[in-house]
Formats: sequence, structure tokens, C-alpha cells
Amino acid sequence: MKIRLWGTRGSLATPGPETVRYGGNTSCVEVVGEDGTRLVLDAGTGIRRLGAILSEESSRVDVLLTHLHMDHIQGLGFFRPLDQPGQDVRVWGPPSSTQDLGTRLGRYLSPPLFPVRLKELPCRLTLHEAPLEPFEIGALRIEAALVCHPGPTLGYRISENGFTVAYIPDHEPVLGAGCIAKDREWISGFELAEGADLLIHDSQYSLAEYPARVGWGHSALSHALQFADKAGVRRFVTFHHDPGRDDDALDRMVNEARMALDLEMEIVAGTEGLQFESESVAFSATM
Ligand SMILES: [Zn+2]
Ligand SMILES: [Zn+2]
Repeated sequence: MKIRLWGTRGSLATPGPETVRYGGNTSCVEVVGEDGTRLVLDAGTGIRRLGAILSEESSRVDVLLTHLHMDHIQGLGFFRPLDQPGQDVRVWGPPSSTQDLGTRLGRYLSPPLFPVRLKELPCRLTLHEAPLEPFEIGALRIEAALVCHPGPTLGYRISENGFTVAYIPDHEPVLGAGCIAKDREWISGFELAEGADLLIHDSQYSLAEYPARVGWGHSALSHALQFADKAGVRRFVTFHHDPGRDDDALDRMVNEARMALDLEMEIVAGTEGLQFESESVAFSATM
């Protein structure tokens, strides 16, 4: 399995000289299985560059949305496969008891907010509510579960040949408690992350910022690390960086967490362009 980060910013795209190292695009992660199955996790602004390099021959692409906040869907209308006649694009999203996925996405992807309606796109587009039981796309096994965040929000766990990546970009597992619960049954998202080789997880706030933002649906980095440690994760990737956090501040935040917490897992700062491969479990930052 290969994993590549195309957008690591949370809430709002934040381009500019002060975010050039970690990147300013919002959530988008590509997962490619050994048989070539390609998943795109979230459609933040980072999805545009990914769409631009996908070859016209790739027969199918699956976009798995965690939820429909704008920072996770804003790039969808600019994803090139949607403009390619005959291209098989399947978009998966969280279930809702009130409106189907097409109606919910169509609120953004229609005038006056967007010039084109979903049904006018030339590709072969199908929309699916992600099942909450395990399912497969190609050789990739996918588990989706609702996690603690405002509105129906999923996290995903994707496995192949004994390697597992968990993706929970918007998540507040300490909500109401201030620390991770002792009993795993009370921890939001625990089963998605348990024993993962790689966890890409919400790390939006510092511990000092968190008290003023309780209930906003995001994690302080140290809370996210407690969660990952409890779940026995091997490598943690910080994600959904606050728009107000520039590169130098992000360096300090991650270095302080590494020094303050005596954890066995590796902590990697989520950087646009960073790639991971399951075979080598090595990573390289190529932009
Ligand atoms: Zn978000
Ligand atoms: Zn959100």
C-alpha cells in the first residue's frame, strides 16, 4: 500500500510563505493498493493536484468523504476525473437519516455556490453512503465508523496484507472528559485506530488552546497522542493543522510533544507531499 498526503491543513486553505513547508491545502490523502486500487480520502483543496496527475486510463477512482464540512469537499468540483466522459467515479460519504448524499453534496455543487450540478458532470458518477460494516474496494478492506465531531462524521481504517492505515482527520475523543477514557468502549474511534501501522489524526490545537474550543470537534495534539498510544499505533501523523499555525509554530508544537511525552510510537508532522509505503515502512517527503 502507498499513502500520499495531498492536503494536511484543517478548516480553511492557508497558502502563503508562512505555510509553504507543511502546505496550505485542506484534507486529501491518496491510498493506492498493491493491485492499483486507488482511494482518495476527502476532497479538500489538495485533491485538485492529485486529479491533475491521474492518467485518463485509470478506470475507477473512489473518493471516501469523512463528512461534508467545506474543508473536506471544497476541491471536489475541481477534481479532473469528474470532467472525463466515461470515467467511473464513486463518492462515498457518511450516512444521514434526513437527506441522501446527493442532496447534501448538491447544496454546494449547484448554483449559486458552484456553476455545475452533479447530474451535469460527464463522468459516470455514483454516490454511496458508506456502510458501517467492513467492505472491500479491490483488495483493500475498509472499515468506517462514526466518530465524535459535529454532524455525521466517519473515520476510516484501510487494511491490505497485514498493513493498516487509519484516517480520522476531524475528531475530539476527549470531549467532555479532558483526557482519554480508561475503558476502550468509551473511546470514540478506538476500533478504527487499534494497532494501526499508521494513524493520520486530527492535531489541530495546542493544549493551551483547547479549553476555549471544547466541543468544536478537534483535538489538542497531546490528547490525540494519548488516544494513539492507548490504541497501540506504530506511527502517528499530525493532521488538520490549524490555519493560524505557521511552519515554525508547527515545528515547535511537534518537537515539544516529542520531548514531553515518552512514547514508543514515531510522531511525524503531516506534510503535503509526504509519502508512506507499507513494504519499507519508510517515508520520504517528495513534493
Ligand atoms: Zn475539517
Ligand atoms: Zn469537520
